[in-house]
Amino acid sequence: MIENAKAVLKKYFGYDNFRAGQEKVIESILNNRDTLAIMPTGAGKSICFQVPALLFEGVTLVISPLISLMKDQVDTLNELEVPATYINSSLSNIEVEERIFNAAQGDFKLIYVAPERLESQAFCSLVKTLNISLVAIDEAHCVSQWGHDFRPSYRQIASFIKALDTRPVVTAFTATATEEVKYDIIRLLQLNCPAVFTTGFDRENLTFSVIRGENKREYILQYLQENKAETGIIYGATRKEVESTYEWLKDKGFSVGKYHAGLSDEERVNNQEAFLYDDIKIMVATNAFGMGIDKSNVRYVIHYNMPKNMEAYYQEAGRAGRDGEPSECILLFGAQDVLLQKYLIEQNMMNEERKRFEYKRLQNVVDYCHTPKCLRKYILEYFGEENVKENCGNCSTCNDDRELVDITIDAQKIFSCILRMKERYGTTLIAEVLRGSKNKKIYELGFDELSTYGIMKNYTVQEIKDLINVLIADEYLIMTEGQFPMVRLRQKAIDVLKLKEQVFQKVRKKKQKTVTQDSLFEELRALRKEISEREKVPPYIIFADSTLKELSQYMPSSLEDMLNIKGIGEAKLAKYGEVFLEAVNKYKERKSIVIDTESEQKSKVAKGKKEEATPSHIISLDLYRQGKSIEDIAKERNVTNLTIQNHIIQCSVEGHEVDLDRLIPKEHEKLILDKIKEIGAAKLKPLKEALPEEVDYAAIKAVIAKYK
Ligand code: ADP
Ligand code: ZN
Repeated sequence: MIENAKAVLKKYFGYDNFRAGQEKVIESILNNRDTLAIMPTGAGKSICFQVPALLFEGVTLVISPLISLMKDQVDTLNELEVPATYINSSLSNIEVEERIFNAAQGDFKLIYVAPERLESQAFCSLVKTLNISLVAIDEAHCVSQWGHDFRPSYRQIASFIKALDTRPVVTAFTATATEEVKYDIIRLLQLNCPAVFTTGFDRENLTFSVIRGENKREYILQYLQENKAETGIIYGATRKEVESTYEWLKDKGFSVGKYHAGLSDEERVNNQEAFLYDDIKIMVATNAFGMGIDKSNVRYVIHYNMPKNMEAYYQEAGRAGRDGEPSECILLFGAQDVLLQKYLIEQNMMNEERKRFEYKRLQNVVDYCHTPKCLRKYILEYFGEENVKENCGNCSTCNDDRELVDITIDAQKIFSCILRMKERYGTTLIAEVLRGSKNKKIYELGFDELSTYGIMKNYTVQEIKDLINVLIADEYLIMTEGQFPMVRLRQKAIDVLKLKEQVFQKVRKKKQKTVTQDSLFEELRALRKEISEREKVPPYIIFADSTLKELSQYMPSSLEDMLNIKGIGEAKLAKYGEVFLEAVNKYKERKSIVIDTESEQKSKVAKGKKEEATPSHIISLDLYRQGKSIEDIAKERNVTNLTIQNHIIQCSVEGHEVDLDRLIPKEHEKLILDKIKEIGAAKLKPLKEALPEEVDYAAIKAVIAKYK
């Protein structure tokens, strides 16, 4: 039986194999068993009912909550020459009757309907003329109030099915796995002893990252510049946030659109279409955008704000990389996001039980943003998977190549300033005092008299604010709730002021994107866009990015050869085989002529990379050897003195020739040496504490390195 299913998969969809999880679900449905499948977004739910639909004798009714999703899926199916249609409010009664009549004649294997339709008496009697083999309920969590998109009309589905003359096989799909939702689905949809499958929640092609304590806009700017050619979504928590991010990116010249519930229907549809057709590359949106976005070539999803729970996060992030190609999911955490989400819970939730439930779920995302363990492990365990391996090697924890930088001195400056301002102000004013800003409020409050006024004047206010946010995220500081949040010290900060603790920050190395010269891929992409405009179907419906990638890698030389490419079945081959083959052949011809200049270019690229890859501490050492002072190097490289001192010492430890004496004040050398003899050099802190206040860490480290 599963062999038949595989043949259908190959013939219509052009895939050789089912993905993990799909096979079992399909087998169960083909055995006429009610089936509930819990699969993460992008895992490939649709094929699980589309393949059985093609094998069953009668019609499959697909209940789907969104008109746009319906149309998109039906377009995709028709493109594959799978006979499918939809029925929704955009059609007249006559058209509805016509479509059902045609279905009864055997013209369609799948009919997509909105759940509201099932409440119509007229529709129900029309449907009785059909031989329905299978009812597939998409986004089945909509039936549950515990889910995130409760839809009352989903509650009618069970009685609709009951009223049919013969009961078809019923199958339900969702990406939400909580026990409450699962239980509700089985009970409220009246599934009959269903087989329940939870497909592995892992999406191997996604890279997860949490970015804390960096300037969000700077981060995004750099990311977008490094990924100019790619398509992605940036989610913001509020309409306001979306609007301002959108305006900002537009000003910077990016190809960007926006989407939120405050826009007119027309604007929303237009913007969504522009995104689907690759006319705009970046969509800035609230969570109103996405359900029903099947676009398979979304390469990144960035959350500008922390979402309200892990379910929402995984679903939104999961919109990246549906085609299975490597894609990134990045969450930018800021301390304010927590306050905002709490505020939203207070505003929206009436009953106390529900509030507690939402607070608990919120805390789970906050924990995700702070966990020191593998992010993928955190996610998978959250969704109930067991025996997850410790390191995935593909998240920001596992791939952490950031440099650890000692920021104790700056942290102390900030803490003591907060203390002197009596812990009664927010980040901006604190930063302005430290920076030494000349503003009226500071004079009025007399803060220009504080000893901490202007002690961080080589930073911008924004940089100081970012640093304060890092210290909040790392729990040295706490921000009070309310309309005017104030920043206060926690015990950990007090310990730092008492020199009991050092503070380290991880600093992202500038990424060096490898220059991929995949020009054939780009050419095929352009060809696809051309066809898309001519035929008025979104590019990804013609071919997925992964199909174009395989085409550009394997460069098939015949139409037959092309059938081996992922995503090319018989229908697609007949329609687009010739043109794409021609493009590949032309490229091959051209390439054989220009091969020399290309290899020359490649060696240039390699050279450039090597130069850039000089480690940071070696650059510092070079400057140090030129006779520059620590202070000057720090200024030039825009880092702290301490960082430079650490660089120099690291070089010495690594065996480079370094004049360490420049780091050791003459009068301290003997003091330090004596102490080392007395208590050893295994730990720095006891040494520091045993020495006079004015002896600094750098000198201690330098002495240790010198006499090793
Ligand atoms: P979701 O589970 O979110 O509904 P979809 O059904 O939209 O996911 O599938 C996501 C993508 O994966 C689609 O582009 C689909 O064509 C592709 N896909 C599904 N099954 C397979 C398979 N067996 N092999 C390769 N690609 C597949
Ligand atoms: Zn990991």
